[in-house]
Amino acid sequence: MFVGHYSVAFAVKTERNKIPLWVLFIAVQFLDYIWATLVLLGVEKLRVIKGFTAGSMLDSYFHPYSHSLIAAMAWSAVAVLLYQPLCSWLGYSYRKSAALIVGLAVFSHWILDLIAHPRDLAIYDNRWKVGFGLWNYRDPEFALEIALLAGGIVLYLARNVMPAIRRRAVIAFGMALVVVQIGDTYVPRTPLTDRGTAMGVWIFYTLFVVMAFFLERIGSRRQINSR
Ligand SMILES: [Zn+2]
Repeated sequence: MFVGHYSVAFAVKTERNKIPLWVLFIAVQFLDYIWATLVLLGVEKLRVIKGFTAGSMLDSYFHPYSHSLIAAMAWSAVAVLLYQPLCSWLGYSYRKSAALIVGLAVFSHWILDLIAHPRDLAIYDNRWKVGFGLWNYRDPEFALEIALLAGGIVLYLARNVMPAIRRRAVIAFGMALVVVQIGDTYVPRTPLTDRGTAMGVWIFYTLFVVMAFFLERIGSRRQINSR
């Protein structure tokens, strides 16, 4: 699963919980940030094999600290605990319920990975691996990613008040994510090394976080002036 993860970030943001979208963008990919970091450190192991599954080249044969069920639960709890210090550091409004939502957003990553991944997600340590393997079916997997993303964006637009210019920017950003997914799923390319892949994860995911940050600022000055 790739851009489908962001559907959760869009879907859970409301006027009430006021969780910044960029925070949710980190949350839904938190496990992959841990994973990419541990791959770069040589702790978790990855092979990049052309045609490994129809929709992905990643053979993540050892990622117990980022992607086992137990680890996913632990990292979700860490995220719940980190949200309050993050809010007080950055001066954001904080609610306990929002911290729980951030934790659930982190955990959603594992559930969506469970659908897409072949049997490489351990329940505990590196044992009892599960995965429904939708990546073996390229078009349905792609369709699910896009359907999830579209659904998330529709909810985001319905539940958050924003100026018209930002609405258009949100839709444009969603379309850019679709293009990225088309590239990832359908454009043939030579496999990167394991570390190259991990670096790519860091770079792309962080780029999306930065875009989500600026997205929620578009038109905000104009909104204040019009009051
Ligand atoms: Zn993942």
